[in-house]
Amino acid sequence: MKLTEYDISNPYEATVVSNERITSADTDEVRHIVLGISDATFHHVEGQSIGVLVPGPHQFGNEDHMRLYSIASSRLGEDQNMSEISLCVRRCFYVDEISGERYPGVASNYLCDATAGDVISIAGPYGRQFMAPRDDTCNILMIGVGTGIAPFRAFLKHIYEERKAWKGQVRLFYGARTGMDMLYMNDEKNDLTLYYDEDTFKAFEALSPRPHFDEPAQIERTLKDNAKDVWDLIQDPKTYVYVSGLARLEDTLDNALIEIAGSEEAWTTAKETMTSQRRWNTLFYD
Ligand code: FAD
Repeated sequence: MKLTEYDISNPYEATVVSNERITSADTDEVRHIVLGISDATFHHVEGQSIGVLVPGPHQFGNEDHMRLYSIASSRLGEDQNMSEISLCVRRCFYVDEISGERYPGVASNYLCDATAGDVISIAGPYGRQFMAPRDDTCNILMIGVGTGIAPFRAFLKHIYEERKAWKGQVRLFYGARTGMDMLYMNDEKNDLTLYYDEDTFKAFEALSPRPHFDEPAQIERTLKDNAKDVWDLIQDPKTYVYVSGLARLEDTLDNALIEIAGSEEAWTTAKETMTSQRRWNTLFYD
């Protein structure tokens, strides 16, 4: 769906509660931003996103600049009272190919610069294509890079803190350039490491051997290193797979899964079966 097709006609007011950097100063800036939403009609479930509306005027004459951000909190919110949600936002820049100049991305910089008390407009929540199964005997296989961790944080909080005794197996394959880029699992903020003690949960870090290497290639290697576990899960009709993060992860993942499945045909068949049963769910962005 194109961004212009989202309904932004009746936005909510959200107040910035806190905005903290969750990566160290020597790596990409990623921030955990908590927004308070007092309007009681706003509620979401894990896997949904909101639209952040940056007021104009903008460079191309558009009144609002809207970008989507995954909600990183479970349905009960950061405050367990459904009135605060969190986002995990990477400060983006783009380089003009002709002039070589570096420009800040509009919405991500707007969010990263926001301070407690600022009021911003949000729309949504959107998206029902990334829903976790409700049956607690289902297995959940999550594969992500970068800020693609946001919906997985929401899933994990829901299944281990709100549902409590999740019986299915839960796997997280997460790619990052360095340990400090392991969002919510690094020295700055480590709330996902709380789940390492859960019997059903295993997290696999796909860290690059050198910091400038791209993460998706490391995900490929880590998945292949755990091929049997991954393939057994994929073949189990009770497994739901979720893939989230940079769009270039898609090809990398297909390559890894073709090898794990044994042939392109075997992987295509498995993926088609999972897709038709809503067990293969993706959320990609540039
Ligand atoms: P923009 O200002 O939109 O710039 C981004 C890109 O636009 C540049 O890379 C460039 O290619 C192009 N561009 C813009 N202006 C120009 C120009 N003048 N000349 C040439 N090129 C230009 N991001 C997160 O950090 N966290 C999330 O949880 C998250 N969740 C998402 C969920 C979904 C479903 C989707 C679709 C995206 C998500 N994103 C998330 C990405 C996010 O929506 C934005 O795309 C990202 O933050 C960049 O937006 P921006 O406004 O900062 O940058």
